[in-house]
Amino acid sequence: MPKVVVLGSGPAGLTAALYLSRANLAPTVLEGLEPGGQLTTTTDVDNFPGFPEGIMGPELMERMKAQAERFGTTFVLDEVTEADLSQRPFKLTTSMSGTLEADALVIATGASARYLGLPNELRLRGHGVSACATCDGFFFQGQDIAVIGGGDSAMEEATFLTKFARKVYVIHRRAELRASKIMQDRAFANPKIEFIWNSEVTDVLGEGKVAGLVVRDLEQDTSRTLDVTGLFLAIGHTPNTGPFARWLGHDDQGYLVTAEGSTRTSVEGVFACGDVQDTIYRQAITAAGSGCQAALDCERWLEASH
Ligand code: NAP
Repeated sequence: MPKVVVLGSGPAGLTAALYLSRANLAPTVLEGLEPGGQLTTTTDVDNFPGFPEGIMGPELMERMKAQAERFGTTFVLDEVTEADLSQRPFKLTTSMSGTLEADALVIATGASARYLGLPNELRLRGHGVSACATCDGFFFQGQDIAVIGGGDSAMEEATFLTKFARKVYVIHRRAELRASKIMQDRAFANPKIEFIWNSEVTDVLGEGKVAGLVVRDLEQDTSRTLDVTGLFLAIGHTPNTGPFARWLGHDDQGYLVTAEGSTRTSVEGVFACGDVQDTIYRQAITAAGSGCQAALDCERWLEASH
């Protein structure tokens, strides 16, 4: 039986695994560094069909995993550090289980939160700097904190953080939000949220933990210190293509490119689904849908080529 390996365990990877296992292909899923993917850092998911009352992100992912497991998927808590896709079987070096071979590969490695890249921001990650409000918001009870970004994530995180924080500043580099109207309105209506427009964070202050931010007003070209104890980044994501980027066609932002109307990548036998190849929709349901497509594409390709 051809060996099929799925990389990633978010909605795309788990749906691909479900379909592949139901096709008796007994896939192996390398779960990656964040098993369950981005939804495990979310609370209520209200837009995944089939759950009229909503479902918590981690529970949704546990259910998807159990469903794939039921039909014979093997899960391995590991990540790929190097890949050789020059010939089949493909060779994958992982951080814990050594080398793995695959006749077909489904890449569903998702995307990771972006940081500003400031030295002190990096140093204070986990000590007041976070890219996951739902994971860390609880630790900021009664405190003043800041969120950077102007998209839906920034609005969602800022609104969520007001459950804990005394005040949430939203620092945005422009005077207009990118977020959808409904999310904007919700944030504007929240008395605990204050917007700081046309501004960027140039430094994060504090020794052992965040004690403030240096915020530069881009219009006035002036800087000031903002007294906050937490900084949440919500400035988008970068696709996780590390070991594959050199082998597979990708766009200038690193997202894997698939053939129109398919999940086929530039290498035969390698399929991509979910956020690692999606620059537009990036939803759990679209990721799951593309995981299904990848499994069907993979199954048909295996039938034709083996
Ligand atoms: P996004 O829409 O790409 O927004 C990123 C924001 O960060 C933008 O406002 C951008 O500013 C800002 N930004 C980017 N790089 C920056 C930098 N270096 N310094 C300062 N600011 C920076 O990302 P997102 O909010 O994560 O959303 C991604 C996708 O998921 C979207 O399609 C969104 O609709 C969706 N989403 C939906 C929901 C929901 O419906 N519940 C929740 C979250 C996300 P500019 O505006 O100036 O470019």
